[in-house]
Amino acid sequence: MTAALEMVDVSKTFPLARRLTHPGRREVHAVSHVDLTLHRGKITAVIGESGSGKSTIARLMAQLYKPTSGQIKLDGKPVEVRNGRQLRKYVGDVQLILQDPFGSFNPVHTIEYALRRAVTIHHGKLPASELDARVGALLEEVRLTPPRQFTAKYPHELSGGQRQRISIARALAASPTVLLADEPVSMLDVSIRLGVLNLLERLVTERDLALLYITHDIASARYFASTASVMYAGELVEGGPAEAVTQKPAHPYTKLLIDSAPDPGKAPADRIKDNGQPPSLISPPTGCRFHPRCPFAMPRCSTEAPPRFDLGAGQWARCWLHSSSKE
Ligand code: SF4
Repeated sequence: MTAALEMVDVSKTFPLARRLTHPGRREVHAVSHVDLTLHRGKITAVIGESGSGKSTIARLMAQLYKPTSGQIKLDGKPVEVRNGRQLRKYVGDVQLILQDPFGSFNPVHTIEYALRRAVTIHHGKLPASELDARVGALLEEVRLTPPRQFTAKYPHELSGGQRQRISIARALAASPTVLLADEPVSMLDVSIRLGVLNLLERLVTERDLALLYITHDIASARYFASTASVMYAGELVEGGPAEAVTQKPAHPYTKLLIDSAPDPGKAPADRIKDNGQPPSLISPPTGCRFHPRCPFAMPRCSTEAPPRFDLGAGQWARCWLHSSSKE
């Protein structure tokens, strides 16, 4: 299967301002050596806590940040975005959907204006009748019907779920092949999250899109994604088919994420013990970054970074527990 969008060994650091108390060069290691592939017609989840670097992955893939090292490939070709024209062409293929749609709309313009503008940016000037038809079709595609009930409204007149549907429609206006959805339902009421996830799932099938689904909610990743990767302190620590990663986790951190989800049926003794907090990304721990929190840590865990161990059926984990030579 050909990859639609790929990250190959991508790292991203952000330099920090020097201070009297810290005169040396310091940087935030937001993303370290990430390999991630999105395929058309598939949903790929990246799961992690706040501050784990998962949103930085979406922004790197959207070309809002340049990688410090590594490569991003679109349809197998390295992405080179050096000017506005190249960026416009790229965002025609790769669209980003943000967590808070309200912040990405101009509050003084109507929905019709926002969608007409998106169509014009990506497809050039069209006759008014064709523009209207395209706007109507986009609204129908995200199930905001009849379209005329929504075109004259302003963003503040819509519910959170309707606004997120409009932001999905605006992304579709570009006719992309890849959608990057950064926590697309986490700001919505629980009762309407499922409807938006179902919409995205339908669009992936109907338009043969590659979808990146960034989330902190491991349960929704299991329901929604075909493959899943788990991120901890800027690194991907486990990946594979979503069912395997969420049902038979191989990395202690994935197990901790699952055990942290509310489950009245699970006894406290059956849950993994959490020994602390996520580390600073300015000076991440040596060896396995999870070792200060891990109840299974061994001496080598604090000095040697575990490689990726393949566990069969597409699942893998970076954890010395899967090495044949444990110490
Ligand atoms: Fe725990 Fe060691 Fe595995 Fe890291 S490598 S998750 S510290 S057992």
